[in-house]
Amino acid sequence: MSISRRQFIRNSLALATASALPVNALAQAKPAHSVGVLLDPLFFKHTLHGHPESAERLKAIDAELTRRDYWKYFTPVKARTALRDELQWVHEEGYIYDVEIYADGGGGYINPYSEDTYVTPDSFDAACMAAGGNIEMNLAVYDRDIDRGFALLRPPGHHALKNKAMGFCIFNSDVIAAKALQKYRGVKKVAIIDFDVHHGNGTQDLTIDDPSILAISIHRHPYWPMTGGMQHVGTGQAKGTNVNIPFLKYAGDQAYLEAYDQVIAPKLRDFEPEQILVFAGYDGHWQDPLADHRLSVNGYNQLVKRLTDSAEELCGGRISFALGGGYKLDPLAQCVAGSMHTLLGLPGTFDDPIGLSPDEELTYPERIQELVKHHLA
Ligand SMILES: [Zn+2]
Repeated sequence: MSISRRQFIRNSLALATASALPVNALAQAKPAHSVGVLLDPLFFKHTLHGHPESAERLKAIDAELTRRDYWKYFTPVKARTALRDELQWVHEEGYIYDVEIYADGGGGYINPYSEDTYVTPDSFDAACMAAGGNIEMNLAVYDRDIDRGFALLRPPGHHALKNKAMGFCIFNSDVIAAKALQKYRGVKKVAIIDFDVHHGNGTQDLTIDDPSILAISIHRHPYWPMTGGMQHVGTGQAKGTNVNIPFLKYAGDQAYLEAYDQVIAPKLRDFEPEQILVFAGYDGHWQDPLADHRLSVNGYNQLVKRLTDSAEELCGGRISFALGGGYKLDPLAQCVAGSMHTLLGLPGTFDDPIGLSPDEELTYPERIQELVKHHLA
Protein backbone atom coordinates (compact mmCIF):
# COMPACT_ATOMS: atom_id res chain seq x y z
CA MET A 1 0.00 0.00 0.00
CA SER A 2 2.81 2.40 0.81
CA ILE A 3 4.16 1.99 -2.73
CA SER A 4 1.50 4.28 -4.10
CA ARG A 5 2.22 6.91 -1.51
CA ARG A 6 5.96 6.67 -2.20
CA GLN A 7 5.22 6.86 -5.89
CA PHE A 8 3.20 10.04 -5.37
CA ILE A 9 6.00 11.66 -3.42
CA ARG A 10 8.61 10.44 -5.89
CA ASN A 11 6.57 11.67 -8.82
CA SER A 12 5.88 15.01 -7.21
CA LEU A 13 9.65 15.40 -7.00
CA ALA A 14 9.81 14.91 -10.78
CA LEU A 15 8.82 18.56 -11.04
CA ALA A 16 12.39 19.40 -10.12
CA THR A 17 13.73 17.41 -13.05
CA ALA A 18 11.29 18.97 -15.52
CA SER A 19 13.77 21.75 -16.15
CA ALA A 20 15.89 19.18 -18.01
CA LEU A 21 13.24 19.09 -20.75
CA PRO A 22 13.70 21.19 -23.90
CA VAL A 23 12.28 24.68 -23.36
CA ASN A 24 9.52 24.20 -25.94
CA ALA A 25 8.31 20.97 -24.40
CA LEU A 26 8.19 22.62 -20.99
CA ALA A 27 6.28 25.61 -22.32
CA GLN A 28 3.78 23.36 -24.09
CA ALA A 29 2.99 21.32 -21.00
CA LYS A 30 2.90 24.10 -18.43
CA PRO A 31 -0.30 23.94 -16.40
CA ALA A 32 -2.28 27.16 -16.05
CA HIS A 33 -3.29 26.38 -12.45
CA SER A 34 -1.71 24.78 -9.41
CA VAL A 35 -3.69 21.73 -8.34
CA GLY A 36 -3.31 20.22 -4.88
CA VAL A 37 -3.81 16.46 -4.69
CA LEU A 38 -4.31 14.51 -1.50
CA LEU A 39 -3.72 10.77 -1.22
CA ASP A 40 -2.98 8.82 1.94
CA PRO A 41 -1.84 5.18 2.39
CA LEU A 42 -4.83 4.55 4.67
CA PHE A 43 -7.16 5.08 1.69
CA PHE A 44 -5.71 1.87 0.22
CA LYS A 45 -6.11 -0.07 3.44
CA HIS A 46 -9.88 0.34 3.61
CA THR A 47 -10.71 -2.33 1.06
CA LEU A 48 -12.65 -5.52 0.45
CA HIS A 49 -11.72 -7.83 -2.38
CA GLY A 50 -14.50 -8.12 -4.96
CA HIS A 51 -16.49 -5.16 -3.59
CA PRO A 52 -17.20 -2.41 -6.15
CA GLU A 53 -15.86 0.29 -3.78
CA SER A 54 -12.42 -1.22 -3.20
CA ALA A 55 -8.87 0.13 -3.23
CA GLU A 56 -8.54 -1.17 -6.81
CA ARG A 57 -10.27 2.08 -7.81
CA LEU A 58 -7.45 4.22 -6.44
CA LYS A 59 -4.83 1.92 -7.93
CA ALA A 60 -6.42 2.34 -11.37
CA ILE A 61 -6.50 6.13 -10.95
CA ASP A 62 -2.87 6.17 -9.79
CA ALA A 63 -1.81 4.03 -12.78
CA GLU A 64 -3.54 6.31 -15.27
CA LEU A 65 -2.14 9.50 -13.73
CA THR A 66 1.30 7.84 -13.87
CA ARG A 67 0.82 6.71 -17.49
CA ARG A 68 -0.04 10.28 -18.48
CA ASP A 69 2.83 11.63 -16.38
CA TYR A 70 0.51 14.00 -14.49
CA TRP A 71 1.89 13.50 -10.98
CA LYS A 72 4.70 15.93 -11.66
CA TYR A 73 2.17 18.74 -11.97
CA PHE A 74 0.45 18.22 -8.61
CA THR A 75 1.18 19.88 -5.30
CA PRO A 76 0.92 17.28 -2.51
CA VAL A 77 -1.52 18.23 0.25
CA LYS A 78 -0.98 16.27 3.43
CA ALA A 79 -3.95 14.55 5.01
CA ARG A 80 -4.52 14.41 8.75
CA THR A 81 -6.98 12.57 10.89
CA ALA A 82 -10.17 14.45 11.78
CA LEU A 83 -10.57 15.37 15.43
CA ARG A 84 -13.49 13.86 17.31
CA ASP A 85 -15.01 17.34 17.66
CA GLU A 86 -14.83 17.90 13.91
CA LEU A 87 -16.68 14.64 13.22
CA GLN A 88 -19.27 15.63 15.83
CA TRP A 89 -20.11 18.79 13.89
CA VAL A 90 -22.25 16.47 11.75
CA HIS A 91 -22.28 12.98 13.31
CA GLU A 92 -23.59 11.69 16.64
CA GLU A 93 -20.95 10.79 19.21
CA GLY A 94 -22.46 7.31 19.65
CA TYR A 95 -22.30 6.59 15.93
CA ILE A 96 -18.64 7.60 15.70
CA TYR A 97 -17.91 5.35 18.68
CA ASP A 98 -19.84 2.47 17.09
CA VAL A 99 -17.77 2.66 13.89
CA GLU A 100 -14.56 2.70 15.91
CA ILE A 101 -15.58 -0.28 18.04
CA TYR A 102 -16.78 -2.19 14.99
CA ALA A 103 -13.46 -1.62 13.20
CA ASP A 104 -11.48 -2.54 16.32
CA GLY A 105 -13.51 -5.74 16.58
CA GLY A 106 -12.48 -6.82 13.10
CA GLY A 107 -15.29 -5.23 11.07
CA GLY A 108 -17.75 -6.69 8.58
CA TYR A 109 -20.86 -5.17 6.99
CA ILE A 110 -21.84 -2.46 9.41
CA ASN A 111 -25.62 -2.49 8.88
CA PRO A 112 -27.48 -5.70 9.65
CA TYR A 113 -29.20 -7.23 6.59
CA SER A 114 -27.40 -4.91 4.19
CA GLU A 115 -24.25 -5.91 2.34
CA ASP A 116 -23.23 -2.53 1.05
CA THR A 117 -21.03 -0.68 3.54
CA TYR A 118 -18.13 -2.71 4.88
CA VAL A 119 -15.79 -1.84 7.71
CA THR A 120 -12.32 -3.36 8.07
CA PRO A 121 -9.91 -2.96 11.00
CA ASP A 122 -8.44 0.05 9.11
CA SER A 123 -11.72 1.66 8.08
CA PHE A 124 -12.24 3.94 11.08
CA ASP A 125 -8.75 5.38 10.66
CA ALA A 126 -9.23 5.71 6.90
CA ALA A 127 -12.61 7.46 7.30
CA CYS A 128 -11.12 9.86 9.89
CA MET A 129 -8.20 10.55 7.53
CA ALA A 130 -10.59 11.15 4.61
CA ALA A 131 -12.63 13.65 6.66
CA GLY A 132 -9.56 15.41 8.09
CA GLY A 133 -7.86 15.35 4.69
CA ASN A 134 -10.81 17.04 3.05
CA ILE A 135 -10.67 19.74 5.73
CA GLU A 136 -6.97 20.36 5.01
CA MET A 137 -7.58 20.40 1.25
CA ASN A 138 -10.34 22.96 1.55
CA LEU A 139 -8.36 25.17 3.90
CA ALA A 140 -5.40 25.04 1.47
CA VAL A 141 -7.69 26.16 -1.36
CA TYR A 142 -9.27 28.87 0.78
CA ASP A 143 -5.86 30.15 1.90
CA ARG A 144 -4.69 30.10 -1.74
CA ASP A 145 -1.81 27.73 -1.06
CA ILE A 146 -3.09 26.08 -4.25
CA ASP A 147 -5.52 27.27 -6.93
CA ARG A 148 -7.68 24.14 -6.94
CA GLY A 149 -7.76 20.80 -5.18
CA PHE A 150 -8.70 17.17 -5.67
CA ALA A 151 -8.78 14.85 -2.65
CA LEU A 152 -8.43 11.24 -3.84
CA LEU A 153 -10.05 10.01 -0.67
CA ARG A 154 -11.84 6.82 0.34
CA PRO A 155 -14.22 5.89 1.85
CA PRO A 156 -16.51 8.45 0.19
CA GLY A 157 -19.00 10.54 2.16
CA HIS A 158 -22.19 11.70 0.46
CA HIS A 159 -24.55 8.96 1.69
CA ALA A 160 -23.33 9.09 5.31
CA LEU A 161 -26.07 10.24 7.68
CA LYS A 162 -25.86 11.76 11.15
CA ASN A 163 -25.97 8.35 12.79
CA LYS A 164 -25.64 5.82 10.00
CA ALA A 165 -23.19 4.57 7.41
CA MET A 166 -24.67 3.64 4.07
CA GLY A 167 -23.87 3.36 0.36
CA PHE A 168 -20.13 2.68 0.94
CA CYS A 169 -19.91 5.96 2.95
CA ILE A 170 -18.91 6.34 6.62
CA PHE A 171 -18.30 10.03 7.48
CA ASN A 172 -19.62 12.91 5.37
CA SER A 173 -16.33 14.59 4.54
CA ASP A 174 -17.87 17.32 2.35
CA VAL A 175 -20.23 18.67 5.01
CA ILE A 176 -17.46 18.38 7.61
CA ALA A 177 -15.09 20.39 5.36
CA ALA A 178 -17.78 23.01 4.70
CA LYS A 179 -18.24 23.45 8.47
CA ALA A 180 -14.46 23.70 8.89
CA LEU A 181 -14.34 26.59 6.40
CA GLN A 182 -17.03 28.31 8.44
CA LYS A 183 -15.52 27.62 11.86
CA TYR A 184 -11.81 28.04 11.06
CA ARG A 185 -11.94 30.76 8.40
CA GLY A 186 -15.22 32.58 9.09
CA VAL A 187 -16.62 31.68 5.67
CA LYS A 188 -20.33 32.45 5.57
CA LYS A 189 -21.59 30.58 2.51
CA VAL A 190 -20.38 27.34 0.94
CA ALA A 191 -21.80 25.38 -2.00
CA ILE A 192 -21.56 21.59 -2.27
CA ILE A 193 -22.21 20.23 -5.75
CA ASP A 194 -22.65 16.50 -6.13
CA PHE A 195 -22.55 15.02 -9.63
CA ASP A 196 -22.35 11.37 -8.53
CA VAL A 197 -25.11 9.41 -10.28
CA HIS A 198 -26.70 8.59 -6.90
CA HIS A 199 -28.49 11.22 -4.85
CA GLY A 200 -26.38 12.73 -2.06
CA ASN A 201 -28.93 11.89 0.60
CA GLY A 202 -26.49 12.27 3.50
CA THR A 203 -25.41 15.72 2.39
CA GLN A 204 -29.07 16.71 1.94
CA ASP A 205 -30.05 15.43 5.40
CA LEU A 206 -27.16 17.18 7.12
CA THR A 207 -27.74 20.55 5.44
CA ILE A 208 -31.51 20.66 4.78
CA ASP A 209 -32.12 23.30 7.48
CA ASP A 210 -28.83 25.18 7.02
CA PRO A 211 -29.16 28.34 4.92
CA SER A 212 -25.36 28.79 4.86
CA ILE A 213 -24.76 25.69 2.72
CA LEU A 214 -26.18 25.36 -0.80
CA ALA A 215 -26.42 21.63 -1.58
CA ILE A 216 -26.97 20.69 -5.22
CA SER A 217 -27.24 17.09 -6.37
CA ILE A 218 -27.69 15.95 -9.99
CA HIS A 219 -28.51 12.26 -10.18
CA ARG A 220 -30.63 9.41 -11.51
CA HIS A 221 -34.08 9.27 -9.89
CA PRO A 222 -35.99 7.27 -8.85
CA TYR A 223 -33.00 5.13 -8.07
CA TRP A 224 -31.06 3.99 -5.03
CA PRO A 225 -31.19 5.42 -2.29
CA MET A 226 -34.67 6.47 -3.58
CA THR A 227 -34.39 10.00 -2.16
CA GLY A 228 -33.60 13.09 -4.24
CA GLY A 229 -36.95 14.29 -5.57
CA MET A 230 -37.01 17.95 -6.59
CA GLN A 231 -39.60 18.84 -3.92
CA HIS A 232 -36.95 18.84 -1.16
CA VAL A 233 -35.78 22.44 -1.39
CA GLY A 234 -34.71 23.12 2.20
CA THR A 235 -36.66 23.95 5.34
CA GLY A 236 -37.38 27.24 7.13
CA GLN A 237 -34.66 29.82 6.53
CA ALA A 238 -32.88 27.28 4.31
CA LYS A 239 -35.68 27.16 1.72
CA GLY A 240 -34.07 27.29 -1.71
CA THR A 241 -30.68 26.02 -0.55
CA ASN A 242 -31.30 22.36 -1.39
CA VAL A 243 -31.47 21.69 -5.11
CA ASN A 244 -32.18 18.25 -6.51
CA ILE A 245 -31.83 17.67 -10.24
CA PRO A 246 -33.31 14.23 -10.92
CA PHE A 247 -33.19 12.50 -14.30
CA LEU A 248 -34.61 9.17 -15.40
CA LYS A 249 -32.22 6.65 -16.90
CA TYR A 250 -30.17 7.22 -20.07
CA ALA A 251 -29.45 10.89 -19.28
CA GLY A 252 -26.01 11.85 -20.57
CA ASP A 253 -23.66 14.73 -21.33
CA GLN A 254 -26.28 16.95 -22.90
CA ALA A 255 -28.83 16.70 -20.07
CA TYR A 256 -26.17 17.29 -17.41
CA LEU A 257 -24.56 20.25 -19.18
CA GLU A 258 -27.91 21.83 -20.01
CA ALA A 259 -28.97 21.42 -16.36
CA TYR A 260 -25.70 23.05 -15.33
CA ASP A 261 -26.26 26.06 -17.58
CA GLN A 262 -29.98 26.44 -16.86
CA VAL A 263 -30.16 25.56 -13.16
CA ILE A 264 -26.83 25.06 -11.39
CA ALA A 265 -24.97 28.13 -12.70
CA PRO A 266 -27.83 30.59 -12.01
CA LYS A 267 -28.46 29.02 -8.61
CA LEU A 268 -24.78 29.49 -7.72
CA ARG A 269 -24.95 33.11 -8.91
CA ASP A 270 -27.96 33.76 -6.69
CA PHE A 271 -26.28 32.15 -3.67
CA GLU A 272 -22.79 33.69 -4.09
CA PRO A 273 -20.72 31.00 -2.33
CA GLU A 274 -17.25 31.82 -1.03
CA GLN A 275 -15.99 28.34 -1.93
CA ILE A 276 -17.31 25.44 -4.00
CA LEU A 277 -16.90 21.83 -2.89
CA VAL A 278 -17.56 19.12 -5.46
CA PHE A 279 -18.47 15.53 -4.72
CA ALA A 280 -17.03 14.04 -7.89
CA GLY A 281 -18.64 10.69 -8.61
CA TYR A 282 -18.14 9.24 -12.08
CA ASP A 283 -20.63 6.39 -11.92
CA GLY A 284 -22.83 8.11 -14.52
CA HIS A 285 -20.30 7.12 -17.18
CA TRP A 286 -21.98 5.01 -19.88
CA GLN A 287 -19.72 2.03 -19.17
CA ASP A 288 -20.31 2.09 -15.40
CA PRO A 289 -22.23 -0.98 -14.22
CA LEU A 290 -24.12 0.68 -11.34
CA ALA A 291 -26.53 3.04 -13.11
CA ASP A 292 -27.87 3.48 -16.61
CA HIS A 293 -26.63 6.97 -17.41
CA ARG A 294 -24.68 7.80 -20.54
CA LEU A 295 -22.10 10.42 -19.70
CA SER A 296 -18.71 10.35 -21.39
CA VAL A 297 -15.27 11.34 -20.17
CA ASN A 298 -15.47 14.46 -22.33
CA GLY A 299 -18.88 15.28 -20.84
CA TYR A 300 -17.40 15.13 -17.34
CA ASN A 301 -14.50 17.32 -18.53
CA GLN A 302 -16.97 19.93 -19.71
CA LEU A 303 -18.87 19.71 -16.44
CA VAL A 304 -15.62 20.26 -14.51
CA LYS A 305 -14.78 23.23 -16.77
CA ARG A 306 -18.15 24.78 -16.04
CA LEU A 307 -17.64 24.26 -12.30
CA THR A 308 -14.26 25.98 -12.41
CA ASP A 309 -15.76 28.80 -14.50
CA SER A 310 -18.42 29.31 -11.81
CA ALA A 311 -15.71 29.35 -9.14
CA GLU A 312 -13.68 31.92 -11.12
CA GLU A 313 -16.78 34.07 -11.58
CA LEU A 314 -18.09 33.88 -8.03
CA CYS A 315 -15.43 33.01 -5.47
CA GLY A 316 -11.97 33.87 -6.72
CA GLY A 317 -11.60 30.42 -8.29
CA ARG A 318 -11.84 28.59 -4.96
CA ILE A 319 -12.93 25.03 -5.74
CA SER A 320 -12.08 21.63 -4.31
CA PHE A 321 -13.07 18.15 -5.49
CA ALA A 322 -13.41 14.98 -3.43
CA LEU A 323 -13.64 11.55 -5.04
CA GLY A 324 -17.10 9.98 -5.14
CA GLY A 325 -18.27 6.91 -7.04
CA GLY A 326 -17.20 5.29 -10.30
CA TYR A 327 -16.98 1.51 -10.33
CA LYS A 328 -15.66 0.40 -13.68
CA LEU A 329 -11.96 0.93 -13.37
CA ASP A 330 -10.93 2.19 -16.80
CA PRO A 331 -13.66 4.83 -17.25
CA LEU A 332 -13.16 5.92 -13.64
CA ALA A 333 -9.41 6.38 -14.18
CA GLN A 334 -9.97 8.23 -17.47
CA CYS A 335 -12.63 10.47 -15.89
CA VAL A 336 -10.35 11.44 -12.99
CA ALA A 337 -7.43 12.03 -15.36
CA GLY A 338 -9.70 14.15 -17.58
CA SER A 339 -10.82 16.18 -14.56
CA MET A 340 -7.18 16.70 -13.59
CA HIS A 341 -6.38 17.83 -17.16
CA THR A 342 -9.20 20.36 -16.92
CA LEU A 343 -8.30 21.52 -13.40
CA LEU A 344 -4.64 21.96 -14.37
CA GLY A 345 -5.68 23.86 -17.50
CA LEU A 346 -3.28 21.82 -19.61
CA PRO A 347 -3.10 22.84 -23.26
CA GLY A 348 -4.83 20.74 -25.90
CA THR A 349 -7.86 18.49 -25.64
CA PHE A 350 -7.88 15.46 -23.38
CA ASP A 351 -7.43 12.20 -25.26
CA ASP A 352 -10.31 9.95 -24.21
CA PRO A 353 -9.71 6.41 -25.44
CA ILE A 354 -13.29 5.31 -24.55
CA GLY A 355 -15.41 7.82 -26.44
CA LEU A 356 -19.17 8.32 -26.49
CA SER A 357 -21.87 5.82 -25.64
CA PRO A 358 -22.87 3.79 -28.69
CA ASP A 359 -26.47 4.16 -27.50
CA GLU A 360 -28.22 7.48 -27.75
CA GLU A 361 -28.58 9.51 -24.57
CA LEU A 362 -31.91 11.04 -23.60
CA THR A 363 -31.87 14.83 -23.22
CA TYR A 364 -35.01 15.49 -21.14
CA PRO A 365 -35.72 19.09 -22.27
CA GLU A 366 -39.15 19.15 -20.53
CA ARG A 367 -37.58 18.04 -17.25
CA ILE A 368 -35.00 20.82 -17.51
CA GLN A 369 -37.72 23.44 -18.09
CA GLU A 370 -39.61 22.01 -15.10
CA LEU A 371 -36.45 22.28 -12.98
CA VAL A 372 -35.86 25.90 -14.04
CA LYS A 373 -39.41 26.82 -12.99
CA HIS A 374 -39.16 24.89 -9.76
CA HIS A 375 -35.75 26.06 -8.54
CA LEU A 376 -35.44 29.56 -10.00
CA ALA A 377 -38.95 31.01 -10.01
ZN1 LIG B 1 -22.72 6.82 -6.77
